[in-house]
Amino acid sequence: MGCCCSVNERSKIVIGLFDYKAQETIDISFKKGDRMQVIDESELDWWRVKNLETKARGLIPKNYVAEEGTIYCEDWFFDNISRKEAENLLLARENTKGTFLIRPSEQFNNRFSLSVKDFDRSRGYHVKHYKIKPKENGHYYIASTQTFPDLASLVAAYSRNTMGLTHILRNPCPKIPPILYDLSPSMRDGWEIDRNEIRLVKKLGEGNFGEVYYGKWKNGTEVAIKTLRQGTMSTQAFLQEAAIMKKFRHNRLVALYAVCSKEEPIYIVQEYMCKGSLLDFLHSSDGRRLRNEELVYIAAQVASGMDYLEKKQLVHRDLAARNVLVGRNLIAKVSDFGLARVINDEAYFATQGSRFPYKWTSVEGIMYGRFTIKSDVWSYGILLMELFTYGRVPYPGMSNDEVAEKVERGYRMPRPNRPEVALEIYEIMLQCWNAQEERRPTFEYLKHFFKNYGVASEMQYRDLDE
Ligand code: AMP
Repeated sequence: MGCCCSVNERSKIVIGLFDYKAQETIDISFKKGDRMQVIDESELDWWRVKNLETKARGLIPKNYVAEEGTIYCEDWFFDNISRKEAENLLLARENTKGTFLIRPSEQFNNRFSLSVKDFDRSRGYHVKHYKIKPKENGHYYIASTQTFPDLASLVAAYSRNTMGLTHILRNPCPKIPPILYDLSPSMRDGWEIDRNEIRLVKKLGEGNFGEVYYGKWKNGTEVAIKTLRQGTMSTQAFLQEAAIMKKFRHNRLVALYAVCSKEEPIYIVQEYMCKGSLLDFLHSSDGRRLRNEELVYIAAQVASGMDYLEKKQLVHRDLAARNVLVGRNLIAKVSDFGLARVINDEAYFATQGSRFPYKWTSVEGIMYGRFTIKSDVWSYGILLMELFTYGRVPYPGMSNDEVAEKVERGYRMPRPNRPEVALEIYEIMLQCWNAQEERRPTFEYLKHFFKNYGVASEMQYRDLDE
């Protein structure tokens, strides 16, 4: 490590976007706004820097900083978020009217959207979106009569004067720190931790594999701990799977932080998702109030996590609302991917077993025990039905045997008589349940379908030039 510590004068300077508290001796703390010189950026998630304010040298999480002088340092710039995510963030209760953000356009390069929280008597709190377009000379505008050399000057001008907006820009929307995929930098290549470092605080529930707890890792990081019932799976098979799961990083997959596998029961230490399983959430009072567009947003997020697994060629095998977890701001993530493969449990796996998820299993899964990404697509269709009926049990009133028999003969759940299950959405479900696997859609298609659902793009922007 010693060789890389001479700081090259021309090396990159980054700015802290959030406060970060060091967890060990190899990483360093910094504050939002601190300037840091990058010494080594060869690692995936952790960069070695010199903090120019405190003079400390060490590792920092690279997703907590942005290069100085770039738009990514601006408090109001949100990279990589969709229109729906922008709305969810802005509508958080603590944000007042005039809270705003700028995000890249989902459809066009070098175009941006300004999203502003507003209020009126008839609609209550809502979000208005304005297009920011470039001119040939590199300037930007919302109304063609007022152009600005860059986005910062545009923000400054609309913060002083509405100039046609319904409200001046008041406060940038607060950013949520991104999750770290490692509990600490020394665990970036390993995942075995000492179980004494984990404190089980509260039992959250009883899962497929054993009890699940909310707990804290040594420095206070919130985690969820899954304890695996003895004999649920072979330790070796599990560790092989954990190694794969640890490498799978996506913002719509629940992160695996660490395992304690030296003694039984094995612990799986995961990212904590404060609202619990999607199924429980849909049954809760908050869940029952979800609007159609919010259900669509959840469907898009699950498809996005599954699209990642599809590209990595990992089959989930047990996709269902109970295996999707919900966090703050309606963030939904797919959980337990890969685990179903290493379970020994006869009850779970053998199709005669009592816990086999018949109602979520594809026709070829039931008949021949064949599980592929296309059988995951089938399960996704069932999950959609759970979602749009607020957690109703699939095939209501039917036993597992009845479902297996009827589905094989071509029976499919009918469209419920509810406005939430629009015809287009029901048709997507039917496509997911096509008896011919290859005719089912891909998760990539499903992700785009739900991301764009209801966005009649031009209609939903306010145009100051009209
Ligand atoms: P499972 O073993 O996945 O079926 O989990 C059982 C229950 O524990 C779920 O229904 C959730 O309520 C809760 N749970 C599991 N994993 C987490 C997590 N990562 N964060 C928060 N709650 C969780």
